[in-house]
Amino acid sequence: MSGLLVVGGGMAGITVAAELRRAEVAFTWVEADSRLGGALHRVFNPLFGWPEGGGRSGVELAASMEDSEACAGLERGCRVASIDAVAGGLHVGLERPATSVVTWSVWSRVVLCTGTRPRPWEVPGTAGLWGQGVELSTHGRGAAYAGEAVAVVGGGDAAVEGALRMAAKGCAVWLIVRGATLRASPRFVEALAATPAIEVRYRCEVTAVVAGSQDKLSEVVLSDGERLPVRGLFVRVGVDPVLPSIRPVPELDAGGYLRVDETGESSVPSLFGAGEVTSPEVSQLRAVTEQALRVARAVCSGR
Ligand SMILES: Cc1cc2nc3c(=O)[nH]c(=O)nc-3n(C[C@H](O)[C@H](O)[C@H](O)COP(=O)(O)OP(=O)(O)OC[C@H]3O[C@@H](n4cnc5c(N)ncnc54)[C@H](O)[C@@H]3O)c2cc1C
Repeated sequence: MSGLLVVGGGMAGITVAAELRRAEVAFTWVEADSRLGGALHRVFNPLFGWPEGGGRSGVELAASMEDSEACAGLERGCRVASIDAVAGGLHVGLERPATSVVTWSVWSRVVLCTGTRPRPWEVPGTAGLWGQGVELSTHGRGAAYAGEAVAVVGGGDAAVEGALRMAAKGCAVWLIVRGATLRASPRFVEALAATPAIEVRYRCEVTAVVAGSQDKLSEVVLSDGERLPVRGLFVRVGVDPVLPSIRPVPELDAGGYLRVDETGESSVPSLFGAGEVTSPEVSQLRAVTEQALRVARAVCSGR
């Protein structure tokens, strides 16, 4: 039987790995992607609430950690496809897409630091319009819509930050929010209140998008029937937790996050979780690293 397996090379996995190394606990560490950093690669602004980043963006922070002690021992391009609880441990399938080889082995403990991914968004008409008006990133694609009328969908930090970014580019912005309130942090909500170029539509959803000439976006249709003439639609509708197939299915919360106790252990014995995958409350670097450190220490004490 193999020993301890850490899954995921985002900030939670990096924190767990560093603590295990410090405590001289042997472990194997895998990351599905070819690079370290996970969600940091989606953070283009200076990291807020994370002075350790020295004013760098997530992308810059991730790049600075490549080839450093932080990622020593990490096997990239290796994905945990499945975990089955068996007598005496966890039977794990490891997939290496580069070689199409799947290997199986039993581990005594597994720590899942598998994070979240952007939630899929399927609305009639979008299929052919990605990159032709329907976009995910205001940072990456916003410049192409400077000075135009645009809509941003979502009510969390990413959506409000995106709406503010587009307003700063001279756009008239509709922010389309499904609920009755915003989920964004106070600093974004305050900035929004001070930005007249953004009009918020609460309790509203985009039900269809319409292509105009040259197969580019021309309108979005809202659930109240209104049609907004926009050139750009930025979709920032949140994230979903990422979990491999696990048997038996562990206890999850209503959003599909892995429920863990204070030591990080899930309802499947010897299967731990750390970082964003465990709760929407653990969604900033401070909370991610504090929780990952606690889990790593609990795992060390049970070695
Ligand atoms: C747009 C944006 C802006 C943000 N801004 C800030 C900010 O200003 N300040 C702040 O504190 N926080 C910010 N955050 C949040 C912060 O980046 C995250 O909380 C943190 O990076 C999450 O770390 P994690 O390790 O839990 O998950 P992730 O970073 O998602 O890492 C999970 C890793 O696991 C890997 N993985 C998944 N499944 C498998 C598998 N089956 N096998 C192997 N590997 C797998 C993934 O490839 C990934 O690398 C922001 C996030 C986003 C998206």
